[in-house]
Amino acid sequence: MAPKAGGDSAKVNSAVYKDKSKPTDIRLSNINAAKAVSDAIRTSLGPRGMDKMIQAANGEVTITNDGATILKQMSVIHPAAKMLVELSRAQDIEAGDGTTSVVVIAGALLDAAEKLLQKGIHPTVISDGFQKALQMALQVVEGMSTPVDLTNEDALLKAAATSLNSKVVSQHSTILAPIAVQAIRAVMEPIVGGVGARVDLRDVKVIERIGGTVEDTELIQGLVIPHRASNVSGPHRIEKAKVGLIQFCISPPKTDMDHNVIVSDYAAMDRVLKEERQYILNIVKQIKKAGCNVLLVQKSILRDALSDLAVHFLDKIKTMVIKDIEREDIEFVCKTLGCRPIASLDHFTAENLVNVDLVEEVNEPAGKYIKMTGCGQGGRTVSVLVRGTSGAVVAEAARSLHDALCAVRCVARRPALLAGGGAPEAAAAAALARASLAAPGADHYCLRAYADALDVVPSTLAENAGLNPIETVTELRAAHAGGAESGVGSNAGVNVRRGRVTDMRQEHVLQPLHVTASALALSTETVRAILKIDDIVNTLN
Ligand code: ADP
Ligand code: MG
Repeated sequence: MAPKAGGDSAKVNSAVYKDKSKPTDIRLSNINAAKAVSDAIRTSLGPRGMDKMIQAANGEVTITNDGATILKQMSVIHPAAKMLVELSRAQDIEAGDGTTSVVVIAGALLDAAEKLLQKGIHPTVISDGFQKALQMALQVVEGMSTPVDLTNEDALLKAAATSLNSKVVSQHSTILAPIAVQAIRAVMEPIVGGVGARVDLRDVKVIERIGGTVEDTELIQGLVIPHRASNVSGPHRIEKAKVGLIQFCISPPKTDMDHNVIVSDYAAMDRVLKEERQYILNIVKQIKKAGCNVLLVQKSILRDALSDLAVHFLDKIKTMVIKDIEREDIEFVCKTLGCRPIASLDHFTAENLVNVDLVEEVNEPAGKYIKMTGCGQGGRTVSVLVRGTSGAVVAEAARSLHDALCAVRCVARRPALLAGGGAPEAAAAAALARASLAAPGADHYCLRAYADALDVVPSTLAENAGLNPIETVTELRAAHAGGAESGVGSNAGVNVRRGRVTDMRQEHVLQPLHVTASALALSTETVRAILKIDDIVNTLN
């Protein structure tokens, strides 16, 4: 009896092991969930892409064309779909632009992988095949890129303009593109003995302001604080200012949470008030002694950073005072002005102040703001004041400017440009299709599938522009297969303005190599990761 029972259990075990339907189901469900995300933003790709209106639970509405922004706000539940959201975010961090493309490419690669799985090819083999394909594709796009000189403003302008082309605010690209280029050029530091330049985007402060149109957006070599000064009757414009940034409060100290001070008679009340007056006067005297005439006060969460009495005294000594400098802005303010924050009154001395040529409170119908220019002791930073008629427009303009800044930063980091309009993807697809002919075994299918998947970029660009995607992709393939003979060569892309395939370099549609290379690398990596998942395990809590 006993051996028979053992045999039974062995049979059951092997049946479980052989039952491949679960991993396959999980994989297909993952692929489908992720593809749904990609399909959702496909229509946003390219200059003729549609915009999305995103409605938050609290009623806030965002209108955007930016892949990363759309996905960030989308409520996605499926874990595999979340991987695509992460993918878009990764591209946003790595390159800043190309956040829609990366997800669209990943969707097409997943589609290709699904078909290969149906052919019976093992997921690991597909994953390796895609890795080989990626290496080839990267070589092709690197090969067709042209190096740029960072002093060549024109090339940088084109990269910024291409990135802005596809935005809601594209009609303002003549204003925003030069601002993006100037901003990055102002803050970039060439790498000594290396190629390219280092750019820290934290050195470019983008401030959103409602009022005016996007055309009024301006670049300011200095500091902008988006609110008014606290003075009542004090100065609103100071030339040759001596600026100090303090991190302590000029208001009476508060008692601890649970303590109360009970004042029972007028004499005691008087003493308290006198004490307060003395305390504040002491601080203000020290400020005057140091020669400070513009005072910046860090925002305090514990108490009011500035009491009415303090404002009164500061008005009297004709010191302009600006409170509520956000804690996270302190670093930028210090770098711009070249100062150090002063944490206690003892350190409030003349040597801790900095000179600024002009500090003024600008009065606009939409509100006041502070502008500081001529910060001779400061570091390399710039501020950009983005304006627009409504909150949604300003926010989208700022996001678009961010993409343009990132595009220029990518060129600074890796000074090479590619033709846009799907040209790099089509060139890589053509090369891969050729290579697949000679590839042995499953690699043949994988390379071919990868090549076909890359066509998604030109085909979507065409589709979104109202062109026939099949005709356009066929024309593009012919141009790339024919190489030089077709007259267009490897820079042939979808010209959405003229509605046909042309040389995108002549159209001045240029994009950074880093954006495209990173989109290809990151999307392939994510697809490989999704393919390797064969089970979803939930935790107990
Ligand atoms: P992403 O978020 O991926 O940057 P976009 O909506 O900005 O998405 O679209 C980028 C794509 O649009 C790129 O493939 C780029 O080459 C293409 N593109 C941009 N401008 C043009 C243009 N004028 N003609 C054709 N294609 C363009
Ligand atoms: Mg873009």
